[in-house]
Formats: sequence, C-alpha cells, structure tokens
Amino acid sequence: MFISLIANSCISFTGIYFISKILNLDTKYEHVQNILIGVLSGLLGIFLITQGVVFDDVVKIDFRFLVLILLGFYRLVSPLIIAATIISIYRFSYGIDFPSIVACIAIFTIVIGIILTYNIVSLEKRLYQFGLTLNVLTCLIAWGAIYISGGLNEYAATAASLVAIISFPVGLLITVLNIDLYLIHHRVKEYKISAETDHLTGLANRRAWEMQMKKVKEHYATCNVLIIDIDYFKQINDQYGHANGDEILKQFAELLHRETRDHDIKARIGGEEFGILIPMLSQVEVIKVAERIRSSISKHEFELLDQQKIHISVSIGIANGKSEHLREMVHLADDCLYQAKNSGRNRTYIHENVEYVQ
Ligand code: GH3
Ligand code: MG
Ligand code: MG
Repeated sequence: MFISLIANSCISFTGIYFISKILNLDTKYEHVQNILIGVLSGLLGIFLITQGVVFDDVVKIDFRFLVLILLGFYRLVSPLIIAATIISIYRFSYGIDFPSIVACIAIFTIVIGIILTYNIVSLEKRLYQFGLTLNVLTCLIAWGAIYISGGLNEYAATAASLVAIISFPVGLLITVLNIDLYLIHHRVKEYKISAETDHLTGLANRRAWEMQMKKVKEHYATCNVLIIDIDYFKQINDQYGHANGDEILKQFAELLHRETRDHDIKARIGGEEFGILIPMLSQVEVIKVAERIRSSISKHEFELLDQQKIHISVSIGIANGKSEHLREMVHLADDCLYQAKNSGRNRTYIHENVEYVQ
C-alpha cells in the first residue's frame, strides 16, 4: 500500500508538472492549448483512477480530484469542464450504477464549486489561500460523495479519513509547486515587458523596436517606417525645464496611441525621436496617417506641470516599401526626416522626396 501511495504521488506530480508547463506556455493558439490541457488532464485523471490505492481489499481511493484542483488554480473553465467530462465518462465504464452517478455528480459539483470560488474577491491575489480553499472544497465534496455512495459505515469512514490524510496534503504540495511555477512565469513575463518598455512613455524601447522589425520582416510583405522627431525640443527643455520636457514626452506618447491602431508598432527610439512601423498600408494611406499625427500634435495643447498650456510640432520622415528592405527603409525615413527639418520643420516627407505640409 505504501509503495502504491508513493507511486500515485509521483504520477500526480509528474503529470501535473507537465500539464502546468503546457499551461504556462505563451501561445497564440489559446483554444488549442485549452483543449489540449483539458484532454491531458482528463487522461491523467483516468490514469489516477486506474492506479487507485486499495486498503483491506475493499476501500479504494484515488487522486483524480487533483487535476481539477490544478485547473481550478489557473482559473481555466473550459479545460476544467473537458477534464471533468472525460473523467466522468470513464467512471461510467465501471458500470452505470449508483456509485458511478454519485462520482460523476461529485466531479461536477467540484467544478461548480471551483468556478464559484473564483468570485470570492478576497482570494483574487492570495494564491496560498486560494489553493488551500480549492483543496478544502474538493476534500469536503469527496467526503460527501464517499458517505453518500458508501453509507455511514466503517469502510466509508476509512476512505474519507484516507482522502483527508493523503489526498489533501498531496493536493497542497501540488498547489505549492504550481504557485512557484506561476510566480516564476509571471516574473519572467514582467521582466521581459520591463526590458522592452521605455519607462517614461510606456512605448516600446529601442531594443523592442529592433526585435519588432525582425518580426515584421517575417510576417508582412510590405511595411511603412515613420520616424518622428519633436521640433526644437532642446528649447522647450531650456525654457520650461527637463521635468516639463518629460511631461510633454509622456503626453506625446498618449497622443501617438490615440492616432494609431493597436497593432501598429510604436517605439521611442531616441530622446525625443519616435518610430512607428505600419505594415501593409499603401503609400497614400500612410501619408494620411502621418499627416493626421502631425496635425493633431500641432493642434494639441500640452499641459505643463504648472498647468500652463503650450503647443509643439513634429517633423516626420516616411519610407514605404518591401519589408525585406526594412533596415534600408529606416535610413531612408531618417533622411526624409532630415529634409523635413531642413525645409522648416512641422512637415512630413516621404522617401521619393515628396513634401507634405498643410
Ligand atoms: P530639432 O528640431 O532639430 O529636432 O531640434 P531639437 O532641439 O529637438 O533637437 P536636438 O536633437 O538638438 O535636441 C533634442 C533634445 O531632447 C536634447 C535633449 O536634451 C532632449 N532630450 C532627450 N531625451 C530627453 C528626455 O528623456 N527628457 C527630456 N526632458 N529631454 C530629453
Ligand atoms: Mg528634435
Ligand atoms: Mg532628435
């Protein structure tokens, strides 16, 4: 019996560890990932049923509930339902009788209980308390199911005690393992975002800009590069101070967000120089976008720290072409920006040396 308990614990830990790994993968195919997690969890649940631990040749307990706790911990509703359905269907293969019906109801009661637990606001960010609550809940429902199908007798009491003595601590250990995995995953994500973000404006930084260029090259046939530079920013700093200069940069970034689409890549590539990558947009359309940005910046009232309002302007250089020439396009857009500056600023130039100014 002791060996079989150890074997069950190892199977649970290993299976749950691998499912947790899949669960923490960042993928675009979230639906596929959810189905895969649901199916794998269901299969692990079945395996745990087949490996159940037998006591005195009569009482049998297994760790099938642990997979539901795992999915509950990650708040995954559809995999939870998929896994519960797979486990229930398998449980009926033992015979369509009263214990099977109780086992099936118990599994879905656990699922409903877990989903209701999500709404307890006090548990939202408290991972340990949340994990503990899921384990207590599951244990109580398992107890109820054991007594309902076994009756109030000695065997049911033994099974219920074993669930408490064995499944509960194993469940808690698995929760602790997952809290660690979850925290590591989230910290890595936070550090990654932090390493790719310009902290003053919240836009992508130069490093992220370079990486996004590679992605655009791979995924889109054509692209536009816009390089935007604030006119006479040094004077603004000199006149109103560096703190006000920073404030303008922040408000400028907000304006860029408003005037572009979410999937356009916006980055702060220098002190007061910004880059935008707009894939798959015609030359005519990109000129409209650039002019819209330029004109809304020149009309906007930037508010300084003492509530004073000032106006600024920008010059924009654009290059439009095949994404495979993206690097050259950045230089071309830079050249155009230079020309826009030399022609008096507050204007847009595109790489065929066409000037746009309203
Ligand atoms: P131009 O119209 O030719 O672009 O003139 P400019 O004054 O904007 O150009 P220049 O490149 O000479 O000056 C850019 C200034 O931007 C110099 C620098 O002090 C300021 N700057 C760069 N980074 C920051 C920053 O993070 N915060 C603030 N407040 N100012 C910055
Ligand atoms: Mg400037
Ligand atoms: Mg500059």
